[in-house]
Amino acid sequence: MLFDAHAHIGSITDSAFIATASTAEMESASCYIYKALGIIPEGTERELDKLERAAKCGWHIGEIGLDKRFPDIPGQEAIFRASLQIAKRYGRIAVIHTVRAYGRTLDILKEEGVDKFIMHGFTGSYETALEAIRLGGMISLSPRAEAAKSFDKLIALPFLIETDMKAGKEEMDVLSSWNERLSKRTGIDIGERSWKMLREVL
Ligand SMILES: [Zn+2]
Repeated sequence: MLFDAHAHIGSITDSAFIATASTAEMESASCYIYKALGIIPEGTERELDKLERAAKCGWHIGEIGLDKRFPDIPGQEAIFRASLQIAKRYGRIAVIHTVRAYGRTLDILKEEGVDKFIMHGFTGSYETALEAIRLGGMISLSPRAEAAKSFDKLIALPFLIETDMKAGKEEMDVLSSWNERLSKRTGIDIGERSWKMLREVL
């Protein structure tokens, strides 16, 4: 079973966990079995109601998080915290997007007492990954992680695999070659292990 732990709206599939960046995507995402509704990086307070409604109906929450390439970090933090509380209240996975803000993101996860989360597209340090896992979360690696300094150490940890691409044929090709490279390198069936880890919480 090859399952993409993080993809975006494209062809309809049961083999990917679809994340969104805006509540405007809610209608098109509703066709998928595994889905999350998110608001990054410029979500507004008004959208929190929609997130809550989605969580109540079984959706997971994300992408949410912090992105230093965008303005108003205090505003992003407030929305991030409120979104985490929604995920927590309904026992949903928080799908975390974080750019140049790993330390701050971990602090917020700790302060909000969130232990069901995926740090998607992870390219941070080995220490950050360990801390995320220690908190109860998971890290998810896309092929971009190969360029990270920590890559060799990261693949010794448990992790999910993802493409962060639109669901479809190309996405599945990328996922399959990513899985082959990782499995050859580690001697473990990474795709199988990733699906086992994720299936328990989806
Ligand atoms: Zn994404």
